[in-house]
Amino acid sequence: MGTAQTRVVILALTAALLAAVLWTLKYRSSISVIETNQPSPTPAFSPSGGTIPPGPAEETSPPPAPSPEPTQAASPFASPEETRETPTPASENSFVGRLNLIVPVAGVRPDQLIDTFGDARSEGRVHEAIDIPAPAGTPVLAAADGEIIKLFPSERGGTTIYQLSTDKKLVFYYAHLQRYAEGIAVGNRVHQGDVIAYVGDSGNAGAGNYHLHFSISVVADPKRYWEGTNINPYPLLHR
Ligand SMILES: [Zn+2]
Repeated sequence: MGTAQTRVVILALTAALLAAVLWTLKYRSSISVIETNQPSPTPAFSPSGGTIPPGPAEETSPPPAPSPEPTQAASPFASPEETRETPTPASENSFVGRLNLIVPVAGVRPDQLIDTFGDARSEGRVHEAIDIPAPAGTPVLAAADGEIIKLFPSERGGTTIYQLSTDKKLVFYYAHLQRYAEGIAVGNRVHQGDVIAYVGDSGNAGAGNYHLHFSISVVADPKRYWEGTNINPYPLLHR
């Protein structure tokens, strides 16, 4: 092979190498342009992967209200592991004869009550409470001893009270109130029969449809008082 041929080969190889280097540089720079100009192909971070918080306050399910205790940092966005199940299925039958409740409306006798626990409500909900009709302003009585744990203005329930039982296993919920009784405040200890409020038609009761909406829920964790399982108050009051 002659010297001229060798030079030609070397030149051709050099040219090819240069072309390859240039092509690579161009290719890589165009890639980097794409990478910097385009939005990230991965979706934005979704909000915390926790469970969906409880829905808006409604007659049959208490609100996702923040805890009254400022020390409790836990939000309704609890992880599933934190959500404890009620150890045993809640049933009013296990409380009949053990709970000594009174009808929580002054002047209403147990035999006047009507069982409205299974009644249908809007949006496919079930009532899961008892409605006790009474004239506006009739005193609402504490159904049992316990503690006032929340005073809550609810869209559906109107003016409401949450009361925790002395053993902290039950939450009594009073709704559609006209107003609270004098001096009622969160943290109050109340005794059975104490006047805690007055019958009204607040919330979605319907104007002039004066009644107390009363529910009883079994709670696994009293700090998460809105997550209880409702039991039928009727057999517990109709004695
Ligand atoms: Zn009701």
